Amino acid sequence: MGEFELIARYFTRPLPPGGGVALGVGDDCALLAPRPGMQLAVSSDMLVEGRHFFADVYPAHLGHKALAVNLSDLAACGARPLGFMLALALPRMDEVWLEGFARGLLALADAHHCPLVGGDTTAGPLTICVTVFGEVPAGGALLRSGARPGDDIWVSGTPGLARLALDALRGQLHLDASALAVLRRRLEQPEPRVALGQALAGCASSAIDVSDGLLGDLGHILRASGVGARVEADAAAALIGGCEPLAGLAEALGQELLLRCVLSGGDDYELLFTAEAQARSAVQSAARACGVPVTRIGRIEAQPGLRLVDAQGAAVEGRFPGFDHFA
Ligand code: ADP
Ligand code: MG
Repeated sequence: MGEFELIARYFTRPLPPGGGVALGVGDDCALLAPRPGMQLAVSSDMLVEGRHFFADVYPAHLGHKALAVNLSDLAACGARPLGFMLALALPRMDEVWLEGFARGLLALADAHHCPLVGGDTTAGPLTICVTVFGEVPAGGALLRSGARPGDDIWVSGTPGLARLALDALRGQLHLDASALAVLRRRLEQPEPRVALGQALAGCASSAIDVSDGLLGDLGHILRASGVGARVEADAAAALIGGCEPLAGLAEALGQELLLRCVLSGGDDYELLFTAEAQARSAVQSAARACGVPVTRIGRIEAQPGLRLVDAQGAAVEGRFPGFDHFA
């Protein structure tokens, strides 16, 4: 099978009707058609074998994750997905791998009405680069720079589970099979919070998706907005205990491990966002409408810096750095 047959067989599908794509795979360019009054939101993420995933990961999960991490960036801007491009370097023609990868990738694409509209295919060390396109009302994108003193800090879902899964897969943590299955799913098949991002666009003041660790990513909001923050350690650590399949586990894991996973775990793809205190009920109803729980974990302050405190307001010791590929 050659390059063109590969593209035709695995990566060419009819476009869904009524979407924002006028022309998909097959010509020199794809043509996107955002609606009038909309801005194009664009983001790329690369996955490299050995760096972002294990060589033996299930191909369908890898396909899912390659698109999920990109959709998560659209979610963090409050954008609606239009379509995506796939640039793929493959060490060899492996039809079993391609079939699984395309299945996982395109199932998530279908779920979010975000068709594959083009890309590039070459031989080389396994590398997957996805670029997503979305649309957002002009001037209405959620940015990192909008947080203001007094705003609440919120997070969706349960950050920290991907890191717990990683610790367990590395043998650093012992979990029963059913808990591990839940965690592994969070690591390998994260659910991008696309609907929540769009629902929050009207009521949040800033947002980011948590890919490198909650506090590290919060730091990006603080710098971009020129503000500081107070984060409640207990509220953050309680997130894992509040997660159904792990309810019995939190105590055994211990507060220190929970904090490390929640605050600097990474790979969560939850939304971390800020909103004025008067928007609390609007935030809660947006979250309910999307079926995603959200939790308040702190507050934006004028004083620069990040203060981690316990329930009594006393400083909690510990460093929780975000992940940095070049650190
Ligand atoms: P060109 O030579 O004009 O760059 P290619 O021969 O690389 O085009 O690709 C032919 C068509 O197939 C183009 O529409 C391109 O966007 C698409 N394509 C190539 N690789 C992929 C891929 N991995 N997934 C989806 N579409 C792809
Ligand atoms: Mg061409």
